[in-house]
Parts: sequence; C-alpha cells; structure tokens
Amino acid sequence: MPTYEFICKNCGNRFSVFTTVAGRDKVQCENCQSRDLQQVFSGLTFFKSGSRGGGSTGSSGCSRGSCSGCPGC
Ligand SMILES: [Zn+2]
Repeated sequence: MPTYEFICKNCGNRFSVFTTVAGRDKVQCENCQSRDLQQVFSGLTFFKSGSRGGGSTGSSGCSRGSCSGCPGC
C-alpha cells in the first residue's frame, strides 16, 4: 500500500497514512479528525530517478514517458 502524506488545513498537522487510492478520500486528521486536508506530493525525487539523464537535448519537459522524441523515454 502506498503512503500518502497530508497536511491538515485546520490545525496544520502533517502526517502520513497507509491507505488505498479509494481510502485516500476518507482520511482524517489524526490530531483533530478534520477532513480538510491537503495532500503532499513528494514524488519529485521519484520523478527524477525515472528519467535517464545524459541527454544533451533538454528532456525535462517530457512527463508522459512514452514519447518518441526524447532519449529519456
Ligand atoms: Zn488537524
């Protein structure tokens, strides 16, 4: 199960939970039980590791992973 990280907009509590994609909508703040949460995306490092560097042509704009124009795909 993936870990999702949230920041509570009500009390500012930051926490991470193990849940499914479906259960993500039912997550409550573990401090105040508020459901007014903002999800924190920490996938930037994952994003970088997924692309192969070394290409002289800037391929930073490609985020689809299936194009034929950049060496990173
Ligand atoms: Zn809270």
